[in-house]
Amino acid sequence: MLVEEPIYPGKGVSEIKMLSDYFEDIKGTPGDTEVYVLKGEKPGGSILVLGGTHPNEPSGFVSAILLIENAVPEQGTMFVVPRTNNSGFTHDDPQEGSPMRFTIDTPSGERWFRFGSRATNPIHQWPDPDIYVHKSSGQKLSGSETRNINRTYPGRADGSFTEKVSYAITEMIKQENIDITVDLHEASPEYPTINAIVAHEKAMPLASQALINMQIEGINISLEPSPTNLRGLTHRELGDHTDTLALLMETANPSQGRLRGKTDSDLVVNGKDKFYVRAAEHGRLYVPFDEKGHPLSERVARHITGVKEFYTVFGEQNPDKNIDIKGIPNYEDMINHGLGEYLQPR
Ligand SMILES: [Zn+2]
Repeated sequence: MLVEEPIYPGKGVSEIKMLSDYFEDIKGTPGDTEVYVLKGEKPGGSILVLGGTHPNEPSGFVSAILLIENAVPEQGTMFVVPRTNNSGFTHDDPQEGSPMRFTIDTPSGERWFRFGSRATNPIHQWPDPDIYVHKSSGQKLSGSETRNINRTYPGRADGSFTEKVSYAITEMIKQENIDITVDLHEASPEYPTINAIVAHEKAMPLASQALINMQIEGINISLEPSPTNLRGLTHRELGDHTDTLALLMETANPSQGRLRGKTDSDLVVNGKDKFYVRAAEHGRLYVPFDEKGHPLSERVARHITGVKEFYTVFGEQNPDKNIDIKGIPNYEDMINHGLGEYLQPR
């Protein structure tokens, strides 16, 4: 349960820091996790990619790993946190029947990855209150949301285990003056916010141009403003409490929804499910769903393309903070070759 899958840093990785470098209190706890720094020779802007906010949404986690292993910045800096809620990877949700691991075939062998839970492991934070009160806004949510890191931002230095981890992320953004933050998620095909970008109001000019560029590339995606009355989320609180441009992306995860069939590694990776095909025929879903399903390669390709568009458009809008990164496959290549090509163990 505590064994981590190997990550093979590519030649673009200049340093591996720990989240506790920005907030010492979490050092040595299961909330501490690696921060991969990919720094180009030429100074420029900076972007942070958060994978694994919700460890039951594998496309964000796998996208983060793909960037660590392939991206080579020439100008500017990319920070990547693959396991934002590291504790959430150490368990899975009761009664969901999800696999504890999934595997991806690569030309040089099979790789395994953990499939975790939406929330912090209760052995690291317990008991849940009856009602979770988000400290800085007073928003009330059900008690279990106290372990959902994406309801705890900007976090608290003297707060719960989960609030301390989100506090460390906020501190990292402040201390490193990170220009753009992209939090990568998935949702079930029957959930309305899907195949979407959610943007803080300060990030809207950036997100709207990136959206147009993605649509030109043939990616069907929508843009939603971050609601001002939904508190504790990255796209709201990081935008309000730091200078970063805060964005979140969602893809369609067939291994997460209520209408799915047997949930195994095959469903996670290949994303084919006959029950979702039927649900789509009855107009019950918010994404198209046919026999081809929504494979992880497509979901990762969407996230990676979004990240690429965000920093490219940011450079166009802020020429003194240009970011130029080589080695990231484009959307077509990922769809045609699959994930294994870019996740070869080295
Ligand atoms: Zn999520």
